[in-house]
Amino acid sequence: MPDIATIVREIAEEMAAAPDRGQVATYIPPLAAVSPRRFGMAVIEADGTAHLAGDAEAPFSIQSVSKVFALTLALGKVGDQLWQRVGREPSGSAFNSIVQLETESGIPRNPFINAGAIVVADMLLAGHAPREAIGEILRFVRALAGDDTIFIDEAVARAEQETGYRNAALANYMHAFGNLAHPIERTLGVYFHQCALAMSCRQLALAGRYLMARGRNPDTGFSIVSPQRARRINALMMTCGHYDGSGEFAYRVGLPGKSGVGGGILAVAPGKASIAVWSPGLNERGNSLLGTLALERLVQRTGWSVFDPG
Ligand code: GLN
Repeated sequence: MPDIATIVREIAEEMAAAPDRGQVATYIPPLAAVSPRRFGMAVIEADGTAHLAGDAEAPFSIQSVSKVFALTLALGKVGDQLWQRVGREPSGSAFNSIVQLETESGIPRNPFINAGAIVVADMLLAGHAPREAIGEILRFVRALAGDDTIFIDEAVARAEQETGYRNAALANYMHAFGNLAHPIERTLGVYFHQCALAMSCRQLALAGRYLMARGRNPDTGFSIVSPQRARRINALMMTCGHYDGSGEFAYRVGLPGKSGVGGGILAVAPGKASIAVWSPGLNERGNSLLGTLALERLVQRTGWSVFDPG
């Protein structure tokens, strides 16, 4: 096997030449304005060796990748009681779908579809003002990455708020079933701000290291979550992290991964590496087209897979 530095560099070169780059999200102007030419990749190995390529240092809107960090925080706060209000099954539906909520009593299928993430945001709000809950998420992500320059893009958060009719519909509907504890404006305020986290591939891969390292932050040695909880979050990423494209992602990449509509993907090779890719053009399921292709090539060339001890 060629060394990982070479593999990452070659994949970035291949992606720069890719003719089909997918469609950039257009539902808010700050995302619509991003060039589909951008591509970044960061691979951080278990020993801390970092391989960066392309736009790996450029901050982008992590959007739904933030649902991993919000879930981790909420599990720390409420423990397994969380599962009374959110399921753990893949939905097979679009990320912003409302259909299953009607027959499933306002309990979202999983924490990574929008409905589930809104319930998780509602849990993070308990006992806090929205500003404090948002601050808690930002502090957590900064601590995970060891980087205090990570920020929330207020223009993105505002645009999410202004156009978030579907998310408001999901929140209202779940509130009607008694599955939200706060006024929807407050819960959505937290959700929209977490979606507006801006991070680079390097920062995102650093923040995801606890998921490849049995729950520990390799910088400090401190436990972020137990090894069992890290495994379980990885299981949810594998089964639900790409919405109705999760089966396809598991088939092609074979690693836990979480996508965002900004074109980012965080993927975890347990014991081996934390990986972030960014390419803003999306496939028809709302997942990064080239990001997925880059990860597929990475695992083909490294042999990384949770289905093979390697
Ligand atoms: N902010 C987006 C939304 O709520 C996040 C969706 C995503 O990244 N898939 O619609």
